[in-house]
This record gives sequence, structure tokens and C-alpha cells, in this order.
Amino acid sequence: MANVKIDGINKIYPNGFHAVKEVNLEIADKEFMIFVGPSGCGKTTTLRMIAGLEDISSGEMYIGDQKVNDVSPKDRNIAMVFQNYALYPHMSVYDNMAFGLKLSKTPKAEINERIERAAKILDIDGLLKRKPKQLSGGQRQRVALGRAIVRKPEVFLMDEPLSNLDAKLRVQMRAELIKLHKELETTFIYVTHDQTEAMTMGTRICVMNGGEVQQVADPRTIYNAPANMFVAGFIGAPQMNFFDGLVTDNKNLKVGDQVFLLTDELAKSVEAKKMNNKPLVMGIRPEDIRSGQSNEGVEAIVEMTELLGSDLNVYFKIGEKQYIMKAEASSALKMGDVMYAVFDPNKLHLFDPESGSSLR
Ligand code: ATP
Repeated sequence: MANVKIDGINKIYPNGFHAVKEVNLEIADKEFMIFVGPSGCGKTTTLRMIAGLEDISSGEMYIGDQKVNDVSPKDRNIAMVFQNYALYPHMSVYDNMAFGLKLSKTPKAEINERIERAAKILDIDGLLKRKPKQLSGGQRQRVALGRAIVRKPEVFLMDEPLSNLDAKLRVQMRAELIKLHKELETTFIYVTHDQTEAMTMGTRICVMNGGEVQQVADPRTIYNAPANMFVAGFIGAPQMNFFDGLVTDNKNLKVGDQVFLLTDELAKSVEAKKMNNKPLVMGIRPEDIRSGQSNEGVEAIVEMTELLGSDLNVYFKIGEKQYIMKAEASSALKMGDVMYAVFDPNKLHLFDPESGSSLR
């Protein structure tokens, strides 16, 4: 069993910086867990503590049933793939892949067999004699993965492994990693700052900010029911719009001159959280706003449009604040137009402005 349990983990660096704060997380056996968050949020530090490359300041870390706080990286049955691949330049692909196995005195025939199998899975069987510098970035990345696979780890740890690849190759490798995860039936823990990677690959996503876990859930839940304004703003591109609002009678949401009837679910949350007649923040995603008739929506001025092929990002201003919606590519909206922004009342999110927490 290769579940990973992170129990009240903190990391305080020797200079006193508190990089990871009270993280509690259980990663199930065979799960594909993604740590995502902005630069400096503590995701790499957390991964390195799982790997044993960084001391844990307090809390307990388990891999399977074993507490690993004091277990050295090589005895943790994990393999880590880094952003820069860290291949030995003077060794062939075969020797790079064999290196760890030779160290652990694996019999030659078995080394051969494991490398052959990994090379086949990764489609690098034709490259085994080459040196890293004779490979493309994508091929090097496969070799780095191959070197991890042959060790048959119980847990794969990956730190931004695709960030050095060009956009097209990254998309391709994303699909391959998903396939690899299925084939190997092993626990994957993957760090990225790229929300698309997180949303497309993870069975679950752990969103971090400022050393703290913000939300842990499957991609759909993270997108549709963000736990707070940070997650709502971080996941989704272009990002969610936020408006100041006020709820009256526990069901009418006022935003500027507009009044929306809340869904039963939101109305109940407002009542339960005692947010009636208190300022709150309404969030709405760009795809949940449309341009309508003057009697339907809020008057706005189009500031700029951005054609993305399949659709059009429309930046508009209401008063002094800028917002964004997604329109059809065929939309005639252009800079300077007056439009009426209509919000889908079923797609509203409400947040407590003080804590940032969702009212759901
Ligand atoms: P990135 O995507 O930029 O790598 P990250 O979320 O992985 O960011 P970490 O590398 O985990 O972030 O770093 C978390 C915080 O800890 C950062 O503010 C970083 O500056 C700080 N930090 C990292 N290593 C050290 C160290 N050795 N000493 C002091 N502070 C450190």
C-alpha cells in the first residue's frame, strides 16, 4: 500500500521562514494528486518533505504504514522526477536508467528486463544508446521518467516535470502521464503552478497559498465549488469576476442597481451563515456572463476584446472596475460599445469578504 499521510506538517527554514503551515492531507494509494499554487506557496517544500530531501520541522509523515520522518530518501520507496531531468550527461540513456538499479545491486538480467519494459511504455526503445545531449527535451523527459519507472517505486513524486517543454509537447506529455499513471497503478504526486495541468491530470487537486492548504477536492469541485476567494480566483482562466453585494430578505442579492433572486441553496447558506444585510462578495465566471438587452443587465462599456479562435474575451467596465466575460467568436462587440452584462443567476458564488470563505 502506498498511501501517503501528511499529519500536521510544518516547515520552518533555518532562517525562520515558515514555508509550510499545519498541512494535513491523505493521499490514497494509486491516486494522482496535484499540488498547485502560485510561486512560493510551499508546494515544492511539501513534496521534498515527502521525498525526504527536506527535514520536517514538526508533524508526522507516513508512507504506507511506516512513519518516515527519519527515513532516508533511498529507503522510502519513492522516485522523484525533477524539472531539469537531472540526467548524467556522460552516460547513455540505458546507463542513466540502469544507474539506480546497479547501485541497489539488482541482477543484470532483471535490469535489462525492467529497462526494456519501461522503454517500451515510454516509446524510447530506439534511443537507449544515445547520450542525453543527443535527445530532444521531450525525449530527455521520457528518459527521466523511465529512470523513475524502472525502480518500481510505490510513490512517484514529480516537480514541474513538463515546464521545460514547448506548449505542444507539454499537451502531449500530459496525456502520456495520465496513461502512465493508469498503466503503472502507482501513487502519483505532482507539483505544478499550471492550473491547466492540475485540472486535466489530477484525480484530486490540493490548492496551496502562503504555505497553507486552501482546498483539496476533485477538479470539478474545485472549479464549480471553490472553498474561498483565493481558489475561485486562482483556478479558471480568465479568472472569476468579483463584485461587492448585499443580500436582503435572505434571498435577494443586490449588486449595484441589480437584484438577483438567489437559488434556494445559496439562500439557505446566507441564512445559515447569518450574512443577511451584511456586505459580501459575489463571484461569477466569465463564461456565466452574457451580453443582453438593456432591460436585462447592467450597463457596461467594452474596453477591449481578445479573439481566441473559438471564443472572444470581452473586457468591460462597470463604473471604474474592469470585468471580463466570454462571448462567441462571432460576437460583434468591440472597444467603446455599450453592452448590458447579464449574469446567470444559477452560477453565482458568494463569499464572506472578511474570511474570503465561500458561503456554500
Ligand atoms: P515555486 O513554484 O516558485 O517553486 P513553491 O510553491 O514550490 O514555489 P517552495 O519552493 O516550496 O515554493 O518555497 C516556499 C517558500 O519557502 C518560498 O517563499 C521560498 O522562498 C521559501 N524557501 C524555500 N527554500 C528555502 C530555504 N532553503 N530557506 C529559506 N526559505 C526558503
